[in-house]
Amino acid sequence: MNFNKLLFPYDKVRDIQEDLILKINESIIKGKNFIAHAPTGLGKTAAVLAPALKYALENEKTVFFLTSRHTQHKIAIETLAKIKNKYKEKFYGISIIGKKGLCLQSDIHKLYNSEFNDYCKTMRVDKKCEFYENLKTNEKLSTETKIALSELKIFNQITTENSLDISKKFNLCPYEISMLIAKNAKVIIGDYYYIFHQDIRNLLLNKINKELKNSIIIVDEAHNLPNRVKDLFTARLSNSMINRALSEAKKFKYDQIIHDLLNIEEILKELSNFKEDEQYINKELFIEKINNIRDYQELIEDFSFIGDAIREEQKQSYIGSIASFLESWLGNNEGFTRIISKKVNPKPIVILSYRCLDSSLATKEVIDEAHSTIMMSGTLTPTSMYNELLGFNNPIEETYKSPFPDKNRLNIIIPKTTTKYEFRNQKQYQDIATILANIVNIVPGNSAVFFPSYYLRDSIYKEFNELCKKTLFIEHPNLSKTEKHKLLEKFKSYKNSGAVLLGAISGSFGEGIDLPGDFLKAVVIVGLPLTKPDLESNALIDYYDKKFGKGWDYGYLFPAFNKSLQSAGRCIRSESDKGVVIFLDERYTWKNYYRCFPSSWNLKISLLYERLINEFFSKKI
Ligand code: SF4
Repeated sequence: MNFNKLLFPYDKVRDIQEDLILKINESIIKGKNFIAHAPTGLGKTAAVLAPALKYALENEKTVFFLTSRHTQHKIAIETLAKIKNKYKEKFYGISIIGKKGLCLQSDIHKLYNSEFNDYCKTMRVDKKCEFYENLKTNEKLSTETKIALSELKIFNQITTENSLDISKKFNLCPYEISMLIAKNAKVIIGDYYYIFHQDIRNLLLNKINKELKNSIIIVDEAHNLPNRVKDLFTARLSNSMINRALSEAKKFKYDQIIHDLLNIEEILKELSNFKEDEQYINKELFIEKINNIRDYQELIEDFSFIGDAIREEQKQSYIGSIASFLESWLGNNEGFTRIISKKVNPKPIVILSYRCLDSSLATKEVIDEAHSTIMMSGTLTPTSMYNELLGFNNPIEETYKSPFPDKNRLNIIIPKTTTKYEFRNQKQYQDIATILANIVNIVPGNSAVFFPSYYLRDSIYKEFNELCKKTLFIEHPNLSKTEKHKLLEKFKSYKNSGAVLLGAISGSFGEGIDLPGDFLKAVVIVGLPLTKPDLESNALIDYYDKKFGKGWDYGYLFPAFNKSLQSAGRCIRSESDKGVVIFLDERYTWKNYYRCFPSSWNLKISLLYERLINEFFSKKI
């Protein structure tokens, strides 16, 4: 196959990559869908963008490359630039981040996304946003807008930074400028919600004059898609939101709703009068309780009206957010669950939530209508689960092997110790700490250890600290981007003497960091991140049992197991990387869990881990 015909930007195509490109090409030509488990190093971005772009150019289609990671925006843009330079094709792509990230108004970061949308709408309708007003003169594009657009078109490909810089220069709204550019773009790089949120999609496609049926949808890191979509359709109401709404009502003198807010707070209190941490709650019960104080619909209308008025003054309105929640609560029961939960942190918090269980409610219509949808990730096993969860109809599925040489990687399961809840005790922690210290002390460089929770990490830390001979780095929850970056840079500087990073599987470093080359030599996954199923997990298990007969796997086991695999993937990021991945928990050898490992992983189950590690690192590659 001549890959130049498919606009492939590099001179060499790797073996496994060749099959990936051909399958993607075939899927797009036939208008079919494709799910690919494609591990790091396969060159997924070039493999998918080249054939998709080729088809789009020849058949008047548009490619949407969807990703939740900013680093991926950059990689996609660079790939497109290489294609353009090599083949001199006339096209451009644009990277668009969320509207809030593009907004030039001040203090926007304080707003939640949903509040921001209402704020922006009010600013536009009331003609209060100068950046929006500057876009047009007498309903036609202003001179500034025309100059900004022509300056942007000079770039090979258009990054978010380009749109921001040029828009700032001319005092124009960068989001609207990006939309004008996107009208003629062949590739649009953005977050999942631009396509998978129905309202946002309709708005976007309308604005840029494109149609879903003429679109090729590429979803990168697609293992995140089911949860991201479910989050988009989940709504919450808490007593702290009500308290803030009360302060807002007082500040803006909407005394007439103070009584209503106090009543809603009282209803939450009444409904949370149970012993456990959470309970399912009936849709009608909450509506009935509200109707006893005020007509439900009337309340929504009043709160929405007041929320809009407040947003004109201070961008954000909790009263408006409560109106949105009340509206969402009226939604369907099918595919959703309703839970009321409480905790003390340090004050008592009660949360009423309407949670989406079924991502296919949003993804299926996109998959059915788009010309072709390609889902890719390094952790997309089993592909059949994503096929069912996302509502595909007979897609092409493929599970690729890592392209890196097997000899560069040692995968070990140590069948000793467990983090299973009923066996957690001091002796267990001591045993885990001893094994961990034995491992990291002989690894010639940096190691990262991921625990199922910060609580477990901290419980094992004391013993481990005494035995570990290397410098320790502790990951704290909710690190800012800058803090994360600083910590990683410092950690990397220990690559010769060796340091140990202690984090949580679902924390800042379990997914989304790259430590290539000599920066990371070993990753240890302690235990399985299986928490006691909460009500949402139970609802998911029930729902998927009824729908696919696979409730436990889809609702509980596979998502947790994939988190372990994601963390394990931090170690080997390039062809020449050499590293050890260790799973420390006897349950990893149990049949029910062992089957969740990708079949191509050459796993060694051994208690002689020290010998294996020493032998592995003493061999030259
Ligand atoms: S129109 Fe643009 S600049 Fe104005 S508030 Fe909305 S996003 Fe911000």
